[in-house]
Amino acid sequence: MDRHEGSLLAYARGMMWWHARHRFCGVCGSPAASADAGHVRRCTNPACATSHFPRTDPAVIMLVTDGERCLLGRQRVWPKGQHSTLAGFVEPGESLEDAVAREVHEETGIVVGEVRYHSSQPWPFPSSIMLGFTAEARSTAITVDPDELEDARWFERGFLLAHQDDDEFRLPRRDSIARRLIEDWLGR
Ligand SMILES: [Zn+2]
Repeated sequence: MDRHEGSLLAYARGMMWWHARHRFCGVCGSPAASADAGHVRRCTNPACATSHFPRTDPAVIMLVTDGERCLLGRQRVWPKGQHSTLAGFVEPGESLEDAVAREVHEETGIVVGEVRYHSSQPWPFPSSIMLGFTAEARSTAITVDPDELEDARWFERGFLLAHQDDDEFRLPRRDSIARRLIEDWLGR
């Protein structure tokens, strides 16, 4: 599928999911009806009439580095050997930079210093946007949270540049922001 059609499909998929999950007003519980060509749902109770808009949930995704090494983890459910950057949802009232630091610390025990924005990738499956960052480690001892990750390790730049994907280690898929963060750090 070409880029333009792909983005239309992703948009439609995200909107349809939102409509399917927001059939009732979250304020008064009355049915909500699609309006403005589907870009808003309006409460049908005239005394309420609250407008509800499509939501997008921000998630941060980050490449943590320590000189010539970067931190990659893996979840049990991923394809064999696949490792990736850490990621997590932003909490209410939290800055993106704080979300990066908190997620890294929760999942691996690593403390990060400077956090820098890199780029973003919409992910309407069903309703997220991935906000990509790089972060410098201020500590290096890893303590994996087993509820979140199966494994997390430091990987040398030289290893990543030389390695071909196999069942022991593979990089995230090429169309992911995780891969873009890693490839940019590798200089490819
Ligand atoms: Zn209502």
